[in-house]
Amino acid sequence: MPWELFRKIVDECKGKGVREFCPFVHGEPLAYPFIAKALNYVSAALPDTTIHIYTNGYLLDSRRSSLLLKSNVGYVHFSIDGISKAVYERHRRGLVYEQVMANVTNFLVRCRREKRRITTRVVFTLTPDNEQEVEAFRLFWQGMVDTVDVIPCDGRGGEGRTPALEQGKMLPCLYLSSRAYILSDGSAVPCCKDWVGYTVLGNVAEESLESIWNSRDYERLREDVSRGIFSNSEACRRCVADKL
Ligand code: SF4
Repeated sequence: MPWELFRKIVDECKGKGVREFCPFVHGEPLAYPFIAKALNYVSAALPDTTIHIYTNGYLLDSRRSSLLLKSNVGYVHFSIDGISKAVYERHRRGLVYEQVMANVTNFLVRCRREKRRITTRVVFTLTPDNEQEVEAFRLFWQGMVDTVDVIPCDGRGGEGRTPALEQGKMLPCLYLSSRAYILSDGSAVPCCKDWVGYTVLGNVAEESLESIWNSRDYERLREDVSRGIFSNSEACRRCVADKL
């Protein structure tokens, strides 16, 4: 996302009571070229807002750890899908297991040593290829982080996906009324499952986030989904469909 667009979004959040800010939708936030500027800007502009970081930990070196520790980051979620090198690297292709484990454990040590209260969580995305490691994963991380979560893979609309709303029967779509999701080109989408931009509700580069959030299209989508009608939104249709 261009820096000017990122800054516009942050500025539009001022005075709106935004409780959480995640400087990404998908991808790796620590790979964002403006991450230092972005975290500093959000921390200064939205001092009462907690920043959440979801990271695979691969780029969390000493310099980036310092950045998280001195900004308004309140939650760090680590995506780690295995406890052995072989299984981990099969799921996170291109990353190096030893480096990730060293980065994450060093960060946790620094949080304790510097008495920085950051809530930490490791998330294991369950697949048929790593389910045998769940118990060892839990045993390893319990006590080191605040929460250990094992969650099923919903596939996010790509190959091998299972419909997100297989679980969605239990999960109401709170996203639509509580969270705004903006892709890197400024497209506002219903939720994180629409990483492609199937259902674009407006573009923050062209209009205000507030006007998009309160638009008739957004309202109509909220009404539809609350009544169990998913077919009017391509993103929601795919989300609940058995087949794409
Ligand atoms: S894509 Fe639509 S139905 Fe699926 S979780 Fe998001 S808002 Fe809900």
